[in-house]
Amino acid sequence: MKGQVFKIHSDFYYVNFENKIYECKMREILKKQKAKILVGDFVEFDFINDKSAVIQKILPRINYLTRPSVANISQVVIVSAVKQPDLDLEQLDRYICFAKYHNIKTRLCFNKNDLSKDDKIIEEVFSIYEPLGFDIIFTSALENIGIDDFKEILVGETTVFCGNSGVGKSSLINSVFPELNLKTKDVSEKTLRGTHTTRHCEICEADNIRIIDTPGFSNLKFDFIMPNDLCLLFDDISKYSKHCKFRDCTHTNEIGCEVVAHIHDIAPSRYESYKKFLEEAIQFKERIKNEGNKKEAFLKTSHNKNFAKISIQKRQTSRNNVKQQIYKDIQDE
Ligand code: GDP
Ligand code: ZN
Repeated sequence: MKGQVFKIHSDFYYVNFENKIYECKMREILKKQKAKILVGDFVEFDFINDKSAVIQKILPRINYLTRPSVANISQVVIVSAVKQPDLDLEQLDRYICFAKYHNIKTRLCFNKNDLSKDDKIIEEVFSIYEPLGFDIIFTSALENIGIDDFKEILVGETTVFCGNSGVGKSSLINSVFPELNLKTKDVSEKTLRGTHTTRHCEICEADNIRIIDTPGFSNLKFDFIMPNDLCLLFDDISKYSKHCKFRDCTHTNEIGCEVVAHIHDIAPSRYESYKKFLEEAIQFKERIKNEGNKKEAFLKTSHNKNFAKISIQKRQTSRNNVKQQIYKDIQDE
């Protein structure tokens, strides 16, 4: 039988098959292969007897995230609050870039619209994000405004919500699935303790809407991408960066930079986000370089004789391999 993993708890996998949930264990051979089953995975499972079922195989994934660990997502809805906490465009851009990196369709939801008597925020949001092609929706989970439109964008999709703590993700999920009654917390309580109600990933489903409730995407940093590739995550920057004079242009202060030449066509907040993430990507590159050099120095001293015989070309290859391995280790982390 083929089903989808809705929840994982210690060694048990809860698999949805024809709207019933089956408690499964993982087949021994999969355990030996150190296979990792994620919430959202489609799996093949069999009954051993009428009580226990065993997952035999993980079916190929369309996509997956590692922080949080979920698979086969069809869209990300990024939730921001227009007030309480204040609209945080840098964090919004962070989530947008992250979803783009994983090639997942993204929609933007601005919640707590009941608190905004100020149309400027709405105008600002539309002027920045509509030209980038995003579907934008304003909601109030508290006053049940915009919830029907919100449900419409969720039908037929497996959606992950992301957004800072306190913006109203649990409240929105409750508006969509009232019977679920997820706990919500006061913003002040959250910021004081920095806690989040959700600890595990789990799929909630009703009326052809699937939402993956996750513990969130805390501390999302650009520690997985090379500085030169970062602009590819910004459509409004990459459309100019193709024409820059130098291939390794960082689009900050180089001569012949087409991004800088078109700076007035890019929303200032977007360019600020780019520069901030660039710093993080540069730090990541430095870290790889240092760790690569350390590993290489160790190899040199421990295999000194052999190393001396290797031609320069091979040494470069080996150096690249070490860097790639570290890059891979960091990604797998
Ligand atoms: P989460 O951390 O993103 O899941 O946020 P919660 O759903 O826990 O909401 C945080 C706080 O914001 C709670 O006190 C909610 O009652 C409140 N809240 C959620 N949605 C709205 C809204 O649309 N308007 C207002 N005024 N408050 C909201
Ligand atoms: Zn440039």
